[in-house]
Amino acid sequence: MRGKLLIIGFGPGSFQHITERAREALQESDVIIGYNTYVDLIRGLLTDQEIVRTGMTEEVSRAIEAVRQAELGKKVAVISSGDAGVYGMAGLVYEVLVQKGWREADGVEVEVIPGISAINSCASLLGAPVMHDACTISLSDHLTPWELIARRIEAAGMGDFIVALYNPRSGKRTRQIVEAQQILLKYRPADTPVGLVKSAYRDRQSVVLTTLGEMLDHDIGMLTTVLIGNTSTFVYDGKMITPRGYQRKYTLDKAEQPIRANERLKEEHEPWALHGGVSERKKETTQALAQQAVAMLAERGLLQTKIIEPNTNNPYDAMPAILEIAVSPGVGNKKLSARQMTALMTAAGAEGEIEYTPHHYVLLRVMTKEPEQIVSQLEQAGLLVQPIGDVVQVKACDFCNGEKSQSIPEADEIAERFAGLTVPKELKIGFAGCAMACYGSVHEDIAVIYRRGKFDLFLGGKTIGRNAHAAQPVAEGIPADELVDTVGRVLAEYKEKGHPDERFHKFFKRIGSVAGYHHNEHVPAVTVDTVCGD
Ligand code: SF4
Repeated sequence: MRGKLLIIGFGPGSFQHITERAREALQESDVIIGYNTYVDLIRGLLTDQEIVRTGMTEEVSRAIEAVRQAELGKKVAVISSGDAGVYGMAGLVYEVLVQKGWREADGVEVEVIPGISAINSCASLLGAPVMHDACTISLSDHLTPWELIARRIEAAGMGDFIVALYNPRSGKRTRQIVEAQQILLKYRPADTPVGLVKSAYRDRQSVVLTTLGEMLDHDIGMLTTVLIGNTSTFVYDGKMITPRGYQRKYTLDKAEQPIRANERLKEEHEPWALHGGVSERKKETTQALAQQAVAMLAERGLLQTKIIEPNTNNPYDAMPAILEIAVSPGVGNKKLSARQMTALMTAAGAEGEIEYTPHHYVLLRVMTKEPEQIVSQLEQAGLLVQPIGDVVQVKACDFCNGEKSQSIPEADEIAERFAGLTVPKELKIGFAGCAMACYGSVHEDIAVIYRRGKFDLFLGGKTIGRNAHAAQPVAEGIPADELVDTVGRVLAEYKEKGHPDERFHKFFKRIGSVAGYHHNEHVPAVTVDTVCGD
């Protein structure tokens, strides 16, 4: 009969954290082979299986014995704590098989059964520290030269990986954890959060939250996993948390803002994200009910506790932010002066980026703790600074280098009133200083075209894609004193009734009528005057 090797990872050690398949595999085995401590941990799940147990450093002999017994036709379980494929027995068993010329087609059957590795079980006890790129490094130099391990720690530090150190220290091996700390301190601050978890989900479990600088003041042994945060990891209310987005984004500190990091978890912004069943509205309802209950108890004299104000410290506030802003020389102006270029370069510094875009502005992206100061310096240089994201942006032609300047006041007022307004999806208003409508204004979401002293309004353009199309002409001859309010009514309706992420042209089509202007599937051609630009 063909034998079978069942290489089982049984997780941290508690029965609740062993997978169903691992339990079945133990039951169907004839022989259980494992390290003494591991056999003791799962003994309660065994019935009459033969047990082969050995000491700690005898992994190779266990693997050889397992293969030998399987070749006799038995079902043999080789057990590892955590995951058998992560510093476990799976690799060793395969190495023994390879040496024997084993082939899957006609050799003993092999099944590797996954378990929960220490990085996962320890992370769950600490909070959510492994929310970003992470690596595991074993500090045991029993089988790996220390120089190689040190190089890997160096690389992890350089790459800002969250690091889980396995086998950090033993009775004889005490130097490695000290060197590991020194290497990582070159790349991240001493107050970087560190979790020390010993015997996760076992009887003598211990969880300590400390810092990279102070971690050696605590007990660290062979059963400890050391979880070191990256430069974004923070501690909040005793929990070690690494933000999933690596850095928060900051645009402009206006009353209306595109999404900020602490708003990301709202359902409308990330409909796919988990919210623990608590939306903002539900939270408000829950708080209101709790307040009612407190008031009721107080009325009856049953409340003798004081109300503790919630901790409002936002850990994001201490972190540098990536400032992303649209910068241009003005709504209608397309020329940058040398002074403005210098201000831009100074704002970007050595590490920032200035990206040329097709939207009549450059995108400045810079990491900073002083976003307000950068914005103020750019504005002092006469630059127009606008937020980016799901906001209104105003694009205008250059009014023939200012020669056709009649409608510039209205363009400026529209920018003043609406640029930066949060809307369901980024929206551009194209403004043209005459009927030539340069700079592609009629392809924008909303187009305003100055003609013969009044304004024409176009709605629902689609700038890009194979199905790009011009906006529909919905009104001609709007007087100057009605223009801004007219545009305002369109934006207000979109803001109120648009679905999150719904582009304006789709919204216009879905809703059929915006601010009294009707959507038309078949748009009649616009009659163009023969006089250029009039
Ligand atoms: S021709 Fe008209 S649309 Fe073009 S830049 Fe001059 S004013 Fe603007």
